[in-house]
Amino acid sequence: MENKIYWGSYTSNELANLIKEDPVVVLPVGAYEQHGPHLTLNTDTDIVLEITKEAVGKACSTGIPCALLPPLWLGISEHHMSFSGTITMRQSTLTALVFDILKSLARHGVKKFLVVNGHGGNMAALRYAIDEVGAHCEVEPVLVTYWHLVADLVARLRKSEFGGISHGCELETSLKMHIAPEDVRKDLLRANVVKGNEYWSPEMFASNRVAMYKPYRQLSEYGHVGDPTKATPDFGEAVFKAVVAELAKLITMMQKGDLENENC
Ligand SMILES: [Zn+2]
Repeated sequence: MENKIYWGSYTSNELANLIKEDPVVVLPVGAYEQHGPHLTLNTDTDIVLEITKEAVGKACSTGIPCALLPPLWLGISEHHMSFSGTITMRQSTLTALVFDILKSLARHGVKKFLVVNGHGGNMAALRYAIDEVGAHCEVEPVLVTYWHLVADLVARLRKSEFGGISHGCELETSLKMHIAPEDVRKDLLRANVVKGNEYWSPEMFASNRVAMYKPYRQLSEYGHVGDPTKATPDFGEAVFKAVVAELAKLITMMQKGDLENENC
């Protein structure tokens, strides 16, 4: 079959054939929320769509049956609502939406789902959704938040100190410099490093010992947290390529049924 990647670019009959090949179906989930004075609202959705597009294309090109669903552009952003433009939904809405999408696909015979998350605020609802789908639909959905795939690379290459990667930070600004530089207001970059304490930090790679609800207005008068002044397109490209490679590997392992195996 021709090398298509988008679920919506197949006809129903073509999809029936694809489903017989036991494909991995990928659902990107983003958010539409403020990212400080220097980044646009589409940041999370834009990043998660670009990385999944590349990863599904890469896996498809090696003969792995897989397909990409349109991204869920809206996420859970209640903690950003005091900044203009942010749109949010309830945790229960996102859970229901993801459950209904995956259940629809399961009814057509799809067994392998990869939900790729691009926004910290979505984590709990997505985890709940895939647990419910797994428990009630006889499928095994997998959930990944993209930056968890590249923690080692980020630790090696980052220029900012701890607290410099959080939201509208060195990492997200670098990724946007790589994939959509026109969305970065370079003249408005400023550092807002928040380290937190021994129990909790907003740093993306912190091992937090407690969870807290924190409206962003309490962490930042500007909207972002971290140090976007350290962002570079090169760091963005390195992170982008590493995430794509990891996702393509994950899709391949899932499709071959290797994800549960030891030493693979
Ligand atoms: Zn973001």
